[in-house]
Amino acid sequence: MMTCDVLVIGAGVAGCAVAYELAASGAEVVVAERGTVCSGSSALNAGGIRQQFSHETSVRAGMATVRRLGTFERDFGVDPGFRQTGYLFLHAGGEHERMLQRAVRIQNACGVPTRMVGPEEVSRLVPGIELADLVGGAYNPTDGYADPHSIVAGFAGGARDRGAVLLQWSPVTAMELDGNRVRAVTAGSRRIVPGLVVNAAGAWAPGVAALYGGSLPITARRSDIFVIDRTPAPDRFLPLTIDLATGHYLHSEGKGLVAGLAESFEVTDPPARAAVGWEVLPLLVERLVHRLPVLEAAGVTRGWAGFIETTPDDNPVVGWTHLTNVYTVAGFSGHGMCLAPGLAPQVARELRGEPSELPLDVYRLERFERGSVEPEEVWGGGGIAAGTTGARPPVAPD
Ligand SMILES: Cc1cc2nc3c(=O)[nH]c(=O)nc-3n(C[C@H](O)[C@H](O)[C@H](O)COP(=O)(O)OP(=O)(O)OC[C@H]3O[C@@H](n4cnc5c(N)ncnc54)[C@H](O)[C@@H]3O)c2cc1C
Repeated sequence: MMTCDVLVIGAGVAGCAVAYELAASGAEVVVAERGTVCSGSSALNAGGIRQQFSHETSVRAGMATVRRLGTFERDFGVDPGFRQTGYLFLHAGGEHERMLQRAVRIQNACGVPTRMVGPEEVSRLVPGIELADLVGGAYNPTDGYADPHSIVAGFAGGARDRGAVLLQWSPVTAMELDGNRVRAVTAGSRRIVPGLVVNAAGAWAPGVAALYGGSLPITARRSDIFVIDRTPAPDRFLPLTIDLATGHYLHSEGKGLVAGLAESFEVTDPPARAAVGWEVLPLLVERLVHRLPVLEAAGVTRGWAGFIETTPDDNPVVGWTHLTNVYTVAGFSGHGMCLAPGLAPQVARELRGEPSELPLDVYRLERFERGSVEPEEVWGGGGIAAGTTGARPPVAPD
């Protein structure tokens, strides 16, 4: 039998960042991971790091992530590969433009230097771009993209260095209850008796909650991502560009690009791995070539898929859930790399019984019962619906 102050379930970016923050403050932490560290969605994403959200809490969490990445190598001895190339949201006017304008005002009030840009600046930022059906964009030069594996490895190593025990190949399969608290957890062949349990199991968090009779409104949606063998600007890193008009995103990757569609596809009872949906490739190629005609002769060298852990309002579930000693930090809805590192110190504060320095009401599970949801509008389900054609509502990764 093993005991600990906090058992974290899941070793993705959320679980490892929270484990690090707790271990750094002296807690005895155990992380139970079904596979290896960073083997879920955190291994499969585009690495986009943005502060361009429509809700102040998410803007501030994104800002905290950017600050964290600024000192990451010094703090953890790992280069997170963070390139502040900026994030550019393209729009064709209408509701997308109004939504971006509203969000830019909120971001500016928080201190994020996002600005609305016109076609000339867009074509400077993305050479060779087709502008005929675009009105402009929203651009923040301090956003960018990073290497997700390095970020998770840094947090995992930092947690281990501060005494956390990371158990790999240790799926959590059962929980014993004592009244309204979890008394013991089965992880692989071990029985663990924790003070607190953190459910950081991403797309699989509902399955973990079901072990104690709880339910979480998190849906797994398959999202496909592809590597393209050329770029319109081989000599520089493009901003992470999200085309709200057609529904796709891209950023530089080596001598080419990575790109994906806005659409994602619901999968019930998600397996550990998702097979890439090659059938979506023609639609992505059509949108890419429309926006960047130079890609007409490009090749696609590989593709993969992961699950986006999606809530009905595209905000995560963060807070105490169902039982007195269970805390959930999951359901990042396509922006876990942006938000989890910045939120982890606040999660650790709440787990220590201290108040969060960020207002987390917008993330509480109870919002769905209270009917007080404030959907994330920027590149979430509601934000791109008008411009895309696939499965509704689409939820896109960052
Ligand atoms: C194609 C794609 C592109 C994306 N692009 C971006 C982007 O650019 N920027 C961004 O911010 N986000 C992006 N995302 C979303 C991002 O990847 C996720 O929001 C983030 O990784 C979620 O992290 P997590 O730690 O909550 O979950 P995960 O990384 O999935 O970690 C959960 C862990 O729990 C483990 N687990 C599950 N069940 C159990 C169990 N019973 N016992 C023990 N362990 C268990 C899993 O094995 C997994 O390792 C993208 C996602 C996809 C699929």
